[in-house]
Amino acid sequence: MDRRCKTYMTLPDLHAGLLTPAQLERLLKLVRDYDIPGVKITSAQRIALLGMDPDGLSALQRDLHLDSGPAHRRGRAHYVQACPGKAWCRYGMAGTLGIAGKLERLELDGPLPNKVKIGISGCRMCCSESWLRDIGLIGESRGWRVIFGGNAAGRPHIGEELASGLSEDEALELIRKALHFYILAARGKERTARLLERIGIAALRQAVSGSQGPELQRVVGAKASQHNGDAISTKD
Ligand code: SF4
Repeated sequence: MDRRCKTYMTLPDLHAGLLTPAQLERLLKLVRDYDIPGVKITSAQRIALLGMDPDGLSALQRDLHLDSGPAHRRGRAHYVQACPGKAWCRYGMAGTLGIAGKLERLELDGPLPNKVKIGISGCRMCCSESWLRDIGLIGESRGWRVIFGGNAAGRPHIGEELASGLSEDEALELIRKALHFYILAARGKERTARLLERIGIAALRQAVSGSQGPELQRVVGAKASQHNGDAISTKD
């Protein structure tokens, strides 16, 4: 909810933008019952209910029967967006919605330094803009390609390939390790794009390879001491 802009409320836990008929019908009824001025499908594949009177918000939340938690949760990805993937698109090389659900529920090793947005595309067309998300996944004939450090905000940054040719389980494990590294190595609220610019993809690849224990700690410690004076941006 943003009180400066009057009010709005998003529904962050739609599963990669999917809604059941029952949820759609309930939503329509609530929009009419509560006389909600605006309904917006967001770029994060959420639905934003715009212009609500604050007095009606708690009643609306109670009646939604959809999980409407805070937009940014430090222990989880900010959002996971996914294209329809192989199940629904003729170009799809991989199913996207199953892995999207697993990433939404991914247990991390601590609070994230800042937002982590995930974009999953079923093929190289990249309809979910995977190169511009903190974590990107692209389905290819030989497996998943994993991208790290993309950002589409004020200082745009195209992510870099962490690995390719991965099974679903391998991709999930690599992402868990990369986010663990991010938790340990980021300075303050540094976004993944800025971290990647600072340390380079080679250091990240090295850190997330193998068992990750002492090696990751060594890389994090070395890089942190090398760059103590760098500025931190939290704007993107
Ligand atoms: S990224 Fe590929 S599979 Fe996904 S919607 Fe676009 S064209 Fe289809």
